[in-house]
Amino acid sequence: MTITTYRELLERAIEAKKNAYAPYSKFPVGAALLTTDNSIFTGCNVENASYGLTNCAERTAVYTAVAAGYSNFKAIAIVTNLEELATPCGACRQVLIEFGSEIDIIVGNEKGEYQVYTSGELLPSCFSGEQLGNL
Ligand SMILES: [Zn+2]
Repeated sequence: MTITTYRELLERAIEAKKNAYAPYSKFPVGAALLTTDNSIFTGCNVENASYGLTNCAERTAVYTAVAAGYSNFKAIAIVTNLEELATPCGACRQVLIEFGSEIDIIVGNEKGEYQVYTSGELLPSCFSGEQLGNL
């Protein structure tokens, strides 16, 4: 994947972050998910007074894409307001790896700095649907 693609996804994630609903944590997050046919779906975190119901930006983007009929993903960019690059939480790693271990996960900041991992790299030895087949 090209650096231009990474940068475009990061820009879309920054835009998506503006819609974050984060009154409790004050930690807005934006995500931009690229499908294999080059569609982009964005997401932001959506918090709730019952904290456990909070949904992260990455999962919002994935669920939005799936609801629209897409389930083949190439990459996802994630941006927070931190200068330090923030990687996805465990729940989001599990949701992302459901759709493949080679999805590029681009974590960036608003200064344009970023680092790229793969979904498999961030969740080694993961639980998968293949294991369910062994029951
Ligand atoms: Zn998460």
